[in-house]
Amino acid sequence: MNDCIFCKIVNKQIPAYFVYENDNIVAFLDINPVNPGHTLVVPKEHHIDLLETPDEVLSDMLTRTKKIAAAVIKAVKADGFNVGINTKPAAGQVIFHTHLHIIPRFSTDGLKHWPSKKLERPEMDKVREAVKKLL
Ligand code: AMP
Ligand code: ZN
Repeated sequence: MNDCIFCKIVNKQIPAYFVYENDNIVAFLDINPVNPGHTLVVPKEHHIDLLETPDEVLSDMLTRTKKIAAAVIKAVKADGFNVGINTKPAAGQVIFHTHLHIIPRFSTDGLKHWPSKKLERPEMDKVREAVKKLL
């Protein structure tokens, strides 16, 4: 994909703050970090999102994430971290090359978790049945 910014980073056509690379994956600092150490784990192959990414690539990403996240939180002295894969524009995906966010968290960072809703039992049951049928 010629016009994909993450392919360009993978191919070293544009610079990035790389922290890790192997045959299948790179990891580099997010240019607009939520907190210091915010890192993106990116497969070298171009796939547009999580659902289009082969299982073996995802396994490799997650295994590597465990190691990279441990290093990141130690390096920035974080108290924890969030992992996220924004999938589709409605969920905030803006780069359509699969990537996983490691977001270091500090007990004092003031960030809030997403808000929750209370759904009634019939709606919970309806959703559960719909999902179960598709699995
Ligand atoms: P998403 O909303 O999940 O698609 O996230 C895309 C992320 O890529 C955002 O957090 C951006 O700050 C980050 N980003 C965009 N361009 C670059 C770049 N050139 N180098 C590093 N991170 C980038
Ligand atoms: Zn790409």
